[in-house]
Parts: sequence; C-alpha cells; structure tokens
Amino acid sequence: MARVLVVGAGLTGGACAALLRGVALVRVAVWDKARGAGGRMSTSRSARDAACTADLGAQYITLETERAGPRRSFCEELLSHGILKPLTAPIEGMVVKEGSCNYVAPQGISSVVKYYLKQSGADVFYEQHVTHICLRDGKWEVSRKMGPPEQFDVVILTMPVPQILQLQGDIVNIINESQKQQLESASYSSRYALGLFYEASTRIDVPWAAQYITDNPCIRFISIDNKKRNIESPEIGPSVVVHTTVTFGSEHLDSDPAEVQQLILSHLERIVPSLPKPASIKCQKWRYSQVTKAVPNFPRQMILHTQPLLICGGDGFTQSNFNGCIDSAMSLAEAVKSHL
Ligand SMILES: Cc1cc2nc3c(=O)[nH]c(=O)nc-3n(C[C@H](O)[C@H](O)[C@H](O)COP(=O)(O)OP(=O)(O)OC[C@H]3O[C@@H](n4cnc5c(N)ncnc54)[C@H](O)[C@@H]3O)c2cc1C
Repeated sequence: MARVLVVGAGLTGGACAALLRGVALVRVAVWDKARGAGGRMSTSRSARDAACTADLGAQYITLETERAGPRRSFCEELLSHGILKPLTAPIEGMVVKEGSCNYVAPQGISSVVKYYLKQSGADVFYEQHVTHICLRDGKWEVSRKMGPPEQFDVVILTMPVPQILQLQGDIVNIINESQKQQLESASYSSRYALGLFYEASTRIDVPWAAQYITDNPCIRFISIDNKKRNIESPEIGPSVVVHTTVTFGSEHLDSDPAEVQQLILSHLERIVPSLPKPASIKCQKWRYSQVTKAVPNFPRQMILHTQPLLICGGDGFTQSNFNGCIDSAMSLAEAVKSHL
C-alpha cells in the first residue's frame, strides 16, 4: 500500500482526495491544522446553538456555464445531492456575469468540502499542524506540532502558498531557486469576517439577503446568511456575516482582535441601524483571503520533488474560486496517479 498524505482539508484537498478514491494499492490520509473541514470554505456555528451557522469565508459558488468544461459535472453532482442549490435570494450590488450561475450551500459552504472528504473514503485527521517535511529512506517523514512524525510515499500540499514556504526541514532545500521565486511572487488579500448569531425567533427586517457596500472604509459585504441560503426557519436563529474591505483587513492585520471586532460593529450599526443585538459573535481573520496574484502562468500545481513525490496545489496556482480549486485538484490527482 502506498501512503498518500494530503495536507489541507479545504476544497482543493477534499476534491483531490475524492479523485484519488479507488486508485489501487493507495491509502489516503488528510491532515488539517484546523478543528474541522472547509478551510476558507468555512461554516461556523453559534457558541449557543449549533444549529445556527454562518459562512465566514466563501459565500457562493459561481459556474460559467459555457466555459465550465469538466467542472460542470462536479457542480451537477453537488446539485443532485442537494449540497448546492441555485442562489435565488436578492443580493444588492452583485455583478452577475452573463452566462454564469451562482449556487449556495443550504447546509453551509463547508458541506461542499465535507461531501468530497466523505466521498474520498480517506482517513481524515484534524488539529494536525504540519511543521517539517524531511526525506528519510526514500519516503517523506512528516512532522506535526503534536504527535510523532509519520512516513508517507507521496505528500500533497494544498495550503495557501505562503504557508507552504513556512514549512521547515528538507523541503526548504528541495524547493529550487526558480520555484521559490515563483512561489514567493504569489500574493493574497487579507480581510476580516464577523459572524453574528441570533436567538431563534429574532427577526431581521431588511429587504435584502445580502448586499455589497461600496462607500464604507471598513465593510464591503453584509449577508443575512440563513436568508442567503434560503433556510429561514422559526426554530433556528438567523445569522449575519460581515466581510471587511481588503484595505481595512491589511491595515488591521496585527491589531487587537477585540478592537477590530468593535470597529466593525460600530460601522455595521451605522449601515444597518435596525440590526438587533446578537447572542454571540465570532471574529475571523483571513490573513490569506483571496489570491490577488497567482503563481506565474497558473500552473494548477507544482512538483517540488519526483521520487518520492512532493507536490503542491490550491487556489494560489489557479484562482480563488470553485473552478480554480477543482482545476488544481484534478491536476494534482492526475500527477499523483501518473507517479504511482
Ligand atoms: C472571505 C472570503 C470570501 C470568499 N468568497 C468566495 C466566494 O464567494 N466564492 C468562491 O468560489 N470562493 C470564495 N473565496 C475563495 C475560496 O474560499 C478559496 O479559493 C478556497 O476555499 C481555497 O481552497 P483551498 O483548499 O485551495 O485552500 P484552503 O481552503 O485555504 O485550505 C487549506 C487548508 O490547509 C490547512 N493548513 C494550512 N497550513 C497547514 C499546516 N501547516 N498543516 C496542516 N494544515 C494546514 C488550513 O487549515 C486549510 O484548511 C473566498 C475566500 C474568503 C477568505
């Protein structure tokens, strides 16, 4: 049995693991440093009521129908299993490209990644923060913050590019100068997301499900998340998601989180004065939010070492959306299959 490790339980890692399902004599493990699946397709729960959830990262999935190619079948599969539904709620200020369709995930956007992880049949472990990757006897020895190192025949890295460059061990010297330059040229925007969770029976009286804000220095996007996902129910409290502007995100990257939260709330109150007081709040910092500059020429993946195989991918090698992650996952899986 060849042991394959996918680092990252985000969309790229989840879809890649699913594409490796059924490959003979291969056992796939997925490790993620977080406590659950999704990565930047994350869905958070209220501290008071686990049924009240909010998508703090990606909001919806866009498919350009004519240029969808093989990704169309990924989307159709998700639609047929009820993981995705067409976005029908009113979003103010949303630019809809001609020929494209938007979809929401009624059970939260992380359900897309969970679907792929389930399909993969892989052994998925959370709170596994990979720190070192070293060569030992023709295999990769992968160390994490907690627990002993483990050996793998193939390692697939799917985290944001700057986090790949933070890994220690032999990987530092294995990445050659030209690859390092290419990886270092990738850049990401930063922003904060606030999740506001309400008690059941709270009414949020606004005519929109979400809106893009263009005239506020702090807030770029507000969503009544349950309304956006078409899951209005009297038993489950509503939730609100706020995304800051990228400028606010970078200016406050190292500020005190409590102060940042207060600043965002004060801007929110001015924009939507009728918003009731939430039962709980979660403030999420996205240091690596969306790719502003991908690795040159959008290579989909990059092979760092061939025997044994060490390969990296993710939206940094394509673009920050469903299509980008699926393209990278397909390319990673193809490269792994042809090396086994
Ligand atoms: C605020 C925001 C809004 C967005 N809006 C949209 C949208 O509306 N539509 C859309 O299509 N896309 C959107 N995106 C982009 C989309 O979320 C990303 O492109 C996509 O989720 C990237 O998936 P990924 O698997 O490549 O990376 P990630 O989701 O980042 O997954 C990488 C995983 O690796 C893990 N990891 C990192 N380092 C380590 C380590 N050392 N050890 C172990 N695990 C590690 C992380 O915990 C993470 O789970 C948005 C993103 C953000 C942040």
